[in-house]
This record gives sequence, C-alpha cells and structure tokens, in this order.
Amino acid sequence: MNSKQVKIEKLLYKLILQFAVYTRGSNEQLDPHLLNITTNVKQGADYHLLTPQLLDLSKTLAHISRTDIPSIETNNSSGQEHNQYFINRLTELFVESEIPLKFQRQYTLLKQRSKRQLDDKAYTAIVDSALSLLLNIKNHAINEQQTVEAFLAEISKQLAVLDEHTTHASKSNKQSLEDRANLSKQIDLQVDDIIETSSNENELLSLQKYINQHLKDLNIHLHKHKNTEDSRQLETQKKLNVMSEKLQDMEVEAESLRNNLKLAHDKALTDPLTHLPNRLAYDERVTLEFNRWQRYKTPLTLIIWDIDLFKIINDTYGHKAGDKTLSVVAQLILKNCRETDFLARFGGEEFVMLLPNTTSKQALTPAETIRSLIASSGFNHNGKSIKLTISCGISEFSNDDKYETVFERADQALYLSKSEGRNRCSIIDS
Ligand code: GH3
Ligand code: MG
Ligand code: MG
Repeated sequence: MNSKQVKIEKLLYKLILQFAVYTRGSNEQLDPHLLNITTNVKQGADYHLLTPQLLDLSKTLAHISRTDIPSIETNNSSGQEHNQYFINRLTELFVESEIPLKFQRQYTLLKQRSKRQLDDKAYTAIVDSALSLLLNIKNHAINEQQTVEAFLAEISKQLAVLDEHTTHASKSNKQSLEDRANLSKQIDLQVDDIIETSSNENELLSLQKYINQHLKDLNIHLHKHKNTEDSRQLETQKKLNVMSEKLQDMEVEAESLRNNLKLAHDKALTDPLTHLPNRLAYDERVTLEFNRWQRYKTPLTLIIWDIDLFKIINDTYGHKAGDKTLSVVAQLILKNCRETDFLARFGGEEFVMLLPNTTSKQALTPAETIRSLIASSGFNHNGKSIKLTISCGISEFSNDDKYETVFERADQALYLSKSEGRNRCSIIDS
C-alpha cells in the first residue's frame, strides 16, 4: 500500500468514527453496530475485521430506511427533541474533531447559534452550516496534507543541497570533517524533527512556524560552521604564508651555504699559486679516469712534467721570481691542452697531465709542442730574459695496469728525459 492509500484509509477510518459518533442514539437498531465499530476503530482494527461489521451496519441501515423512518415534521414536540438530540450529537462530533484555526470563528458562531431556541428552519440552517463546515474541514485537511508534502519535498531538496555544499566545504582537514559530522547530525536531527512534527501536526500555520524556526536554527548552525571554516582557512593560509616565507629564507640560506661549500671545496682542490687543480683534485680525477679506462678500455695516457734545473732559477732570481715563473709555465701548459685533458700541479715544479682517448704516441705531439713552446719562450725578469726548459715522461695505461704502475713508468720516462740531457719528452709503455 502506498502513502496515498494509507492516507485515504486513515481518512475513511476518521469518517467512520465521526459518522458513528454522529449517529449514535438516533436508532436503537443501529447503536450496537455503531458502538462495536467505534470501539474497534479506536483500537486500530484493520480492514478485514471492520468489513463484516460495516456490511452489517449497511444492512441494518437499509432495513431501517425501508421500515422505520421517523418523521420530524409529523410530531412537533418529538421533532424538537430530535432537533436537540442531533444538535448534541453534532456538538460531540466537533468536540471529537480538531478545528483548524481558520475555521475557529465559524465554529464558535455555529455553537452560539445552536444554543438558542431553534425552530425547524433555524435547525435546518444549523445542520447545513455544520455539514458544510465539516466538509470544508475535510478539504482543508487534504489540501494541508498536500501542501505539507510539497513543502517537505522542497525542504529535503534544499537540505540535500546544503548538505552537499557542507560536504564539499569541509574536506580540508580532520577538524573540518569532525565539524561537518556535527553539522550533518544537526541537520539530520532538525529534519527528523520536521518530519516527525509534520506527521503529527495537521495545522499548516503552526507547522510552517515550527519548520521556519528549524530552518533558522539550521541557518545559524551553517553560518557558525562557515565562520569557523573561514577563520580556520584564514589561519591555515597565514601559517602557510609564514611557512612559505620561512622556506624561501631557508632556500636562500641553503643556496648561500651551497655556494660557500662549493667555494670551500674548490679552494680545497685548487693550487693558490698557479690556480691549477692541486694534488688532491688530481687524486680524485685520476680515480675517475682510471675507472672509465677500465670500463671502456679507451686509451688513457699520463704525463709527468718537471721544470729543468728550477733550483737554479730560484737561486739566481729569487724565490718570488721562481713563483711567477711557475705560474706562467702552468698557464702555458694549460693553454696547450685539449678541453678533455686534465692538468694539475703535483707539487714543487712538477705537473701531471691525464689525456683521455689518447695513446702515448698521440700524446707525444702535444707534449712536444708544449716543451718546444716553453723552451722558446723568454721569461722576463726585471728586463732580463730567463731561459727555461721543461722535460716530461709519458706512459699509457695498458693491460692489467694499476694507476701506481703507470705513474712509476711515467716517472721513469721523466728520469730518462733528464738523464738524456733535459728539454725532452720520453715514452715508456709496458
Ligand atoms: P731537475 O732538472 O733535475 O728537476 O732539477 P731541479 O732543480 O728542478 O730539481 P730539484 O728537485 O733539485 O729542485 C726543485 C726545486 O724547485 C727546489 C725548489 O726550490 C723549487 N721549488 C719547488 N716548489 C717551489 C715553489 O713553490 N716555488 C718556488 N719558487 N720554487 C719551488
Ligand atoms: Mg722536481
Ligand atoms: Mg725539476
């Protein structure tokens, strides 16, 4: 059974009850039926139980209408009694019914009129008014029910939208979720309350008043919730801004720290006199090139350079002149290297060079270029030209060479250059 049928059934029960109350006492044959039906309806008897009782009542009514219709007009004094009797029953009927506010005035007037001395005409008028009032009340109840239904449907829709917004607005964090749960609970409570009230309340005006109050409460809850959310978001935004500023500061600090570290690192790996990579840098690089050579087996050659008789330079022109000379020689060698070559000051007046993708024979060409360049360069000191030469030893990495063995061979090659008269380049391979 759908909700409409339920309502119609309720209305029918109500009408049966009203009819029973209204007609009780009017006929002795009817009274037992009416009493029975009234009791059963009040006790919530269902359709199956009531049907035979109603059929019995219907039969009795049919029988009475054929045989025993009392005539009000024929006997005036008993007619008067009858009139009063019906007025009393009508009054009971209204007492049993709930009179909507809208009809209160009409009902009061009817009561006042019914208390007066009534002739037949006045009595008929009162009965007509009472019946039309009853019909109006019934129609009013049906209209109200429909209005309430539409009203509730609209409210449910609005609440669903509100709930959706709330759901959307409250996703940000745990606290928001908790707030939302509370709010939803509030909404549910209010809606439950509205539904509960609407099913109990037949009076549209008071129902609307009641619902309006609930909507106001809901509005307050929502505003409160929105304010809390707004201030929370504002607070979070503020914190985020502070955090962002702090992060930026930290970024700047980190950047400057990185730069300082790089500077310190570079400093640690650079020879201050010649600005070439120092021995530490060389150690790092040689490991890298050695690993690469082992992996790809592309040629790799090592050259050790040593300035010839440098002690004499120092002794003749002074240590300062020696320093300057060292620096100039370093730049000369560097300028004649390929970009992929690596040159470092190994110590004193010695330099080491790593030449990737270069065999010892190939390395000899640039080595000779450098050597002859230095030999032909006049190093100026106080207007005097200083003659300077350089020697080198060359060795190529091969087979199962370890770095130390290659260095040893290059050193031997250097010694060979020195022993063969200096200003030379010698190769010793394995
Ligand atoms: P050889 O041709 O056999 O290499 O002769 P050499 O004099 O160059 O060799 P030795 O090892 O006898 O002398 C190296 C000299 O280099 C000794 C030292 O005074 C000088 N020397 C080493 N480092 C520096 C430096 O940083 N500055 C200056 N001015 N001289 C240095
Ligand atoms: Mg030396
Ligand atoms: Mg030397």
